[in-house]
Amino acid sequence: MTNNKQKPQESDFEYPEDMEFFVSLLGEDQLDKNKFDFRDPILKRREFAKVNKSIMAKLLADGRNRCELRLLESCNDTGLVLDHIIPLSSNELNKRIRKLPTPRGKKIARQSVGSNHPSNLLVACPKCNGYKKHRFIKRVGDKWLIVKGDDPIWHFNMSNPPKIR
Ligand SMILES: [Zn+2]
Repeated sequence: MTNNKQKPQESDFEYPEDMEFFVSLLGEDQLDKNKFDFRDPILKRREFAKVNKSIMAKLLADGRNRCELRLLESCNDTGLVLDHIIPLSSNELNKRIRKLPTPRGKKIARQSVGSNHPSNLLVACPKCNGYKKHRFIKRVGDKWLIVKGDDPIWHFNMSNPPKIR
């Protein structure tokens, strides 16, 4: 499966610039269609509840029995959980790329992005998982880093400047 990755198409995304973001976030070689699922997050969460235990058992059996995020000093390997590399839903793209204003008394709209496929899952300790929340992470060398608002990744050269729709 890993050497036969299918790439998502720009048309799979709600906005074409989002694909460009994921190219720069993951790198071309990690841009796997399996990592994405644009269906209703409610559906995805329901499905995740059903497959969570079996995927976790498989990853543990593969020897993945340590927190792979390692974001915090207090990180330890007890009570490991599955963590979505690309969050099931996020408003970061609307916030950072399209710079949508926050509606009064509300939050910026979320988009459905990540999948429950094992290629989009990591083994993590509850502390790192809770700290990461719905933010994006990227692999830098042998470390996962949280993508912050001032990260150059949000300022890539976009072939199609974002349109507010
Ligand atoms: Zn951890």
